[in-house]
Amino acid sequence: MSRYRSKSRSHSKSRSNSTKTRSNLTKTQPKPKPHSKSRSKLNKVIIVLCDGLRADTAVEQLGYVEALCHHKQGARWSAVADSPSVSRTNYETISTGMPSVHHGFVTNLMHGKSKMKKNMFTEVKAHGGTSAVIGSSWFYDLYGNDAPFVATQHKEINDRKEPIQIGRYQSAEEISTQELLETTSYIIDKFNPDLTLVHVQDIDHLGHTKGIGREYIQAVEGLDELLGVYMPHWLKNHTVVICADHGMDSHRNHGGMECSTVKIPFYILGKHVPNIEPDKIVHQTDVARIVLHIMGIHGFEKYQEKIFKSIHYVPMLTCRNDRTIINRDGTIKQRSKAIRKTMRK
Ligand SMILES: [Zn+2]
Repeated sequence: MSRYRSKSRSHSKSRSNSTKTRSNLTKTQPKPKPHSKSRSKLNKVIIVLCDGLRADTAVEQLGYVEALCHHKQGARWSAVADSPSVSRTNYETISTGMPSVHHGFVTNLMHGKSKMKKNMFTEVKAHGGTSAVIGSSWFYDLYGNDAPFVATQHKEINDRKEPIQIGRYQSAEEISTQELLETTSYIIDKFNPDLTLVHVQDIDHLGHTKGIGREYIQAVEGLDELLGVYMPHWLKNHTVVICADHGMDSHRNHGGMECSTVKIPFYILGKHVPNIEPDKIVHQTDVARIVLHIMGIHGFEKYQEKIFKSIHYVPMLTCRNDRTIINRDGTIKQRSKAIRKTMRK
């Protein structure tokens, strides 16, 4: 997500939020019922959702994460984003397990709450667990009881009546990964939530502002270094899922079906790595049910199957040998066929 993207994909988040701020400031808010430490028996999961992280850059730069996989403390699968490959669409797909044409958020320009009956947060709550989100205010827009997000009221949520009981939300996209991971560690130690989602935002921001180059790659290297600081502690009691909403193309954008935007990383690390075939291509609609399965919550698949049957992975069939290859210094070694075709026009 970014306000810096091209006009066709842009959204008017800041303008609409300021309008909402004015209208909601006068509302009387019910007093929240504070959330205390979770005592559920669910297996604990942390999702590291990396906004705008391409699959090839993840493999090349997440050295610590890859090392865990090499030593059988985790695994990586090929994964594909739902389309269109834009943030609001993909947040909703990850959370609800529904493809865009069913959940209805088919563009970043659509606002409002999720219309789906279930999502992974409601499922955790229904099973006596608690969830935390540290990330974009768009998560509150989608799932908050009193949505849309208003900074003066929803910046810090600690309310057991909410579907996401603990929230630390930001409207700014420039927030540092270090601050996000520090807050995540604080939340985990203080509240012990069953499901924690931390939304890393600077990779997408740098992809839009600087392109696929030195800054973008350094942001991913920086994430790997910070995961090296926090993950050893997290992995003692949690399974960690690392995924992305979408990738980033060489035009500093995303939204279409190019490999660089739909091919995304998907790692599961820790003691509860599920038995998924190594050559399975994980679609974003699989994420919620995989996370819930790790936690010990079953039956979500049946709910999904009532609404849609399967997804065809068309882009993955054509991009295996057609990807943009980036040198370590950020220069492009080889452009994908799709990009070369665009450049000839
Ligand atoms: Zn973006």
